Amino acid sequence: MPCRTDRVVTAGAAGASGAEYAGPVIAIERVRMAFTDRHGGVSAEPYGSRNLGGAVGDDPAAVAENRAKTAAEFGVDQVVFMRQVHSADVAYVTGPFGAEPPALDAVLTDRPGLGLAVLVADCAPVLVADPVAGLVGAAHSGRPGTEAGVVTALVEAMAARGGDPARMAAAIGPCACGRCYEVPEDLRERVAGRVPETWSTTSWDTPALDIRAGIAAQLEQAGVADIRHDGRCTIETPDLYSYRREQRTGRFAGYVWIGD
Ligand SMILES: [Zn+2]
Repeated sequence: MPCRTDRVVTAGAAGASGAEYAGPVIAIERVRMAFTDRHGGVSAEPYGSRNLGGAVGDDPAAVAENRAKTAAEFGVDQVVFMRQVHSADVAYVTGPFGAEPPALDAVLTDRPGLGLAVLVADCAPVLVADPVAGLVGAAHSGRPGTEAGVVTALVEAMAARGGDPARMAAAIGPCACGRCYEVPEDLRERVAGRVPETWSTTSWDTPALDIRAGIAAQLEQAGVADIRHDGRCTIETPDLYSYRREQRTGRFAGYVWIGD
């Protein structure tokens, strides 16, 4: 199966301060979701130009400017960034962590105007919302996070705060696809032993993992029926950062927030 290109498309004005974010913004009642790309920022190569990752070697001033610019374009007051470590740990948040964020891979909030961001370059950014309960969440689910069930943990944490999975909508953003994400045979066996839907082969017929398929299955098993895809493969899409393709590179992000 080729890479899916079924981009979620809901056109929307990006924010009060201008239209520089050129991608789609997904609107579900008051909830907004978006996935950034490389464009529209101030970082120099190899991070050019909208690098949002603070731990990849880019100039911190450029990263801060890119983050501020993106928040302004989306019209969010503050944005929560995590220190992502490929865990399944989730936290409820009411504001940004500041200079020393805890090690986490998923956050949720009920605060309007507070953006939740998940940084990626091949791992999947997963955004979840229950607009009726007024809850949004964001998870970083690469190979270890998918194996550990971080998205399942996020849906459970949202349900514990009054969310109903049957009402939730989820968006799985761009990630390395199952035809590109080559892994050793023993790793494929192990991960697929836990999440069978991840079992895949590359387009050149070697062992691979389909993280997107695994996450979609986890969401379905958690009771989430409305699952949307930005099906772009990071490795195959020069508009996106890809660690596998570039090694030294930036991070794009998934953002979710409750609008006004
Ligand atoms: Zn691919």
